[in-house]
Amino acid sequence: MSQVSYSCRYLSAHRLAITVNFTATHNPELTLPIWIPGSYTRRDFSRFLTMQRAFCDGKSAEIRTISPSNWQLLAENISEREQHLWQLEYEIYARDVSVRGCYADNFRIIFNPCAACVQIKNQENLPHILDLSAFSNGIFGAELNDGTARFQDYQELIDTPFLIDREAISAQFQLAGVPHEIVLSGAENLDCVPENFLRDIEKITAAAYKIFGKFPEKVRRYSFLMFFTADSYGGLEHQSSTLLMESRESLSSHASREQYQQLLGLFAHEYFHLWNVKSIRPKIFRAGYRLDCEQIFPELWFFEGFTAYFDNLLLSRSRTISQEDYLELLAQDISFYLSRTGSRKQSLTEASITAWTKGYNGGENSQNSNTSYYRHGALAAWTMDGFLQKNSPYSLADLMRRVFEDPQIQQTGLDKSEFLRIASSLLPSDKQAEFAALWQDLIETTKEINLKQTAENFGLKLEKSALTGKQINSQLPNCPIQTEAGFALQTLNSGRFALKITEPDAEIWAYTAAGDEILSINNQAPTASNIWKFIFQSSACEKVELLLMRGGLIHRAEFHLTAAENKNAKLSFANKELTARQRYWFFGEK
Ligand SMILES: [Zn+2]
Repeated sequence: MSQVSYSCRYLSAHRLAITVNFTATHNPELTLPIWIPGSYTRRDFSRFLTMQRAFCDGKSAEIRTISPSNWQLLAENISEREQHLWQLEYEIYARDVSVRGCYADNFRIIFNPCAACVQIKNQENLPHILDLSAFSNGIFGAELNDGTARFQDYQELIDTPFLIDREAISAQFQLAGVPHEIVLSGAENLDCVPENFLRDIEKITAAAYKIFGKFPEKVRRYSFLMFFTADSYGGLEHQSSTLLMESRESLSSHASREQYQQLLGLFAHEYFHLWNVKSIRPKIFRAGYRLDCEQIFPELWFFEGFTAYFDNLLLSRSRTISQEDYLELLAQDISFYLSRTGSRKQSLTEASITAWTKGYNGGENSQNSNTSYYRHGALAAWTMDGFLQKNSPYSLADLMRRVFEDPQIQQTGLDKSEFLRIASSLLPSDKQAEFAALWQDLIETTKEINLKQTAENFGLKLEKSALTGKQINSQLPNCPIQTEAGFALQTLNSGRFALKITEPDAEIWAYTAAGDEILSINNQAPTASNIWKFIFQSSACEKVELLLMRGGLIHRAEFHLTAAENKNAKLSFANKELTARQRYWFFGEK
């Protein structure tokens, strides 16, 4: 039977050599994906590809570039009546330190087939083989036979990243008969996966499994592939694994509570995607991904926002963090939402559609032009959860299970009408219209979410106060600000500060530009303590003088301060004892 086979080996200087073998009766066309599922923007992976040589039946063939991510192989005197043996060799420059691309050095490799394996046109549904036997050991990500992995088709191949590192440490556990492994690469000073961390991840996976009651059909094994670096953050979900990046400090003995919680939250987020987006799929993905163009869909508020809501909730439901810590994480989402003016300019549906441009590439004005379907989406999910729990015996976790089990959605995928159908089925008939109106407001409009009401639905108090200095810049004190000027501070390599736009209408922007470097403030040195004193701890209407540098030229600016607005949220319990609803929310227990 025909198949497409790839082999990969490391050369040096971040280069991976790829050889592809296949058969075809004609001059074949090849393409490389322009995006990777789970990260909704163009990546144009062909940027890193250099074609080398091609052969047809052992004789040299031409490689013709048709478009940036498209090629055709051409051989002379080809007979379309017989199968010809084609071979193609190319290199990938692998220095994309991200969960989406390929990275290779003399110690370790991230091999993302989506960014490295060309697709042979009209052969997508054949079995695909990946030979990694050039690497003697330390290959993680899928089951291997003599260093070779088999995939039922091209889509399965590109959904299976590999982490190759002889020094990586790993641990295994079972959940409901499915073997799980945690692989840690680049975790300094660790010779095994720390016991408490392993236990926490086991508890989190069990809490996620409990929501859905079974694994998606295709899941036979699951790998957490963690690539630690000095300073990075991100994850990408796959059918049977996730590739993750974090700072190695998050698992070190001097990690702060917040850093460790962020690490657990990342594992929880990607694991929840195993159901929400890899199994419950957007309607547009049901027939498979189109990788040669953008595949836009308006439901990222569900696939990412709901996942962002459940990631931290899973930490509570698994009892890996306290309820107080969970409320703090939720309050951080609220503060983020209140501080981001873009939350009032874009609906969640619009943010889902513009993820491909604004979401990933919005630049420095993002916070004023678009909303985050992650954090805003998580608060919309929380609000729907509150409504469900107040008006029915069900929660949003129950809704997720219904969506997962629904035969119609399994067949055709999810869109907003399917979502509304399932949500309505959990509510008494006299509450369905009210939910539909609330849902419409949350998803389709820019109306501010009534978070006070949502907090009350969960027996909580929501209080708002001024942001702290630390929320504006890590070098400022963790105390509430009194005044503000309409900018955030960016720390430059020199240690000095530059201005970042937060409130475009603030007076200061009549005299300054984003990126202006502060040389002095009120004729004094621009230290963190002087900036704190003169800008954030002053009185409203007070005048401030700045000496600034823009593009090597110095200029002066004068402006007035305004009183700080209340954008910092705090959640606390209205009563001492946990209510039944809170127990159901926090632990999933009636
Ligand atoms: Zn996600």
